[in-house]
Amino acid sequence: MEPSVFTKRGKLSVVATPIGNLEDITLRALRTLKECDVIYAEDTRVISKVLARYDIKKPLQRLDAATELKKADEVIARLEAGEHVALVSDAGTPGISDPGARLVAQVRLILPGAIIEAIPGPSALTAALSIAGMDASGFTFLGFLPHKKGRQTALKKIAESDIPVVLYESPHRILKLLKELETINASRVTIARELTKMHEEIVSGSVTEVQVHFAAHPVAVRGEFVVIVEP
Ligand code: SAM
Repeated sequence: MEPSVFTKRGKLSVVATPIGNLEDITLRALRTLKECDVIYAEDTRVISKVLARYDIKKPLQRLDAATELKKADEVIARLEAGEHVALVSDAGTPGISDPGARLVAQVRLILPGAIIEAIPGPSALTAALSIAGMDASGFTFLGFLPHKKGRQTALKKIAESDIPVVLYESPHRILKLLKELETINASRVTIARELTKMHEEIVSGSVTEVQVHFAAHPVAVRGEFVVIVEP
């Protein structure tokens, strides 16, 4: 008779967390964060606020863009030992303009037997599209445009797109981006600012109208932005 072989199967849960409002977290995400052995977080201070809100106490490790590949070895060793590891980013879904993809790719490569599960939830991308009032059955997501090399190519791609293009932008560059969108003759834009937070705001109109809005309300040039460029 063949000897039975027991292989421990570690599990990596990629967990979406709130993009502002701490109530935006799924029951499954909370259960996963309660049940896992360790949480790898982009910034342990940020996830600590979510954990404190739900009275969850767990060992935390940092895994950010700079340390992702180095920390992947550590995560893989834990999964080999049969541990349950949760991965979170600062906001929303890991891997969407956030660390996560390289870790997942390494785990798939080195440890094909490990379970990798998604715990879906908020993302600024889908939240913005859900209230933009435009057909999002097809869209292009470009995340943050490159700051220098490749920026003009990306703008050209936006100009030529016949479906909506969704971008992430920081408060420091939002006015610059609007100017650039004007130069490529973008027609209408929708800007979703501070989604799920106290100062949530949706500004929609021609690029010029939106620029006028921000010039008249300098306080609105703060926070976090999703920019949707209409075709
Ligand atoms: N992983 C996140 C997700 O799933 O949406 C995105 C992380 S990315 C580093 C951060 C960018 O997402 C911000 O600069 C902003 O463009 C966008 N973002 C995140 N939270 C937001 C919010 N509450 N309102 C508007 N945009 C937000």
